[in-house]
Amino acid sequence: MDKKECKHCSQIKLLSEFRSSIIRNKQYFRLECKECEKKMKRIKRLTNRKELNLSFFRDRASSLNSGAKSRAKREYIKVTGEQLMELFLTKENSRCYICNTSLNYENLIFDHEIPLSSGGAHNIKNIRCCCQECSSLKLDRDLQSFIPFLFDYCQRVEEKLGGVINDL
Ligand SMILES: [Zn+2]
Ligand SMILES: [Zn+2]
Repeated sequence: MDKKECKHCSQIKLLSEFRSSIIRNKQYFRLECKECEKKMKRIKRLTNRKELNLSFFRDRASSLNSGAKSRAKREYIKVTGEQLMELFLTKENSRCYICNTSLNYENLIFDHEIPLSSGGAHNIKNIRCCCQECSSLKLDRDLQSFIPFLFDYCQRVEEKLGGVINDL
C-alpha cells in the first residue's frame, strides 16, 4: 500500500488517509491528512468567534518576553497565531501543562518549556500553554529545577505560616 507524509503532522500515513481529487484522469492527494484537515477546519471556524479570534493569539505571541522576540528575529523563527491556537486547542487540550488546570483567555500564558535562557528554542515545539500561577512561579526555570523549587517553597511557607493556617 502506498503511503505518504502529511505536511502538517509529519506522520507517514496510508494514501487512503488523504483526500484526493481526480484531474485529467490523474489522482492528486492533498498535502495534509484528513485528520489534520478536520483540525484545521475547526480552528478556522473558531477563529471567527469573537472571544477566540486569532488576534488574541497574535497578541499573546507578541507578549512573549523581549529576549524571545529578539532571538526569534535573529534566528528567523516565527511563531504564528494559527500555530499557537492549534497548540492551545489540540495539543494542550486547553489545559496547563504543569498543573492541568483548565485554561481560558484570562489565565492563558505561553511558556517556553526549556527557557530561552537555557538555550531553549523559540519555536512551536518548545512553547507550551500554562496558567498564570504556574508561569509566575516557574519564571525561567526548567521543569527539572521547578519541581524541587516548589517543594522547597511550600516547606518554607508551611514553616512560616503553618500555624497561622491551622488557626484559620
Ligand atoms: Zn496530518
Ligand atoms: Zn498551572
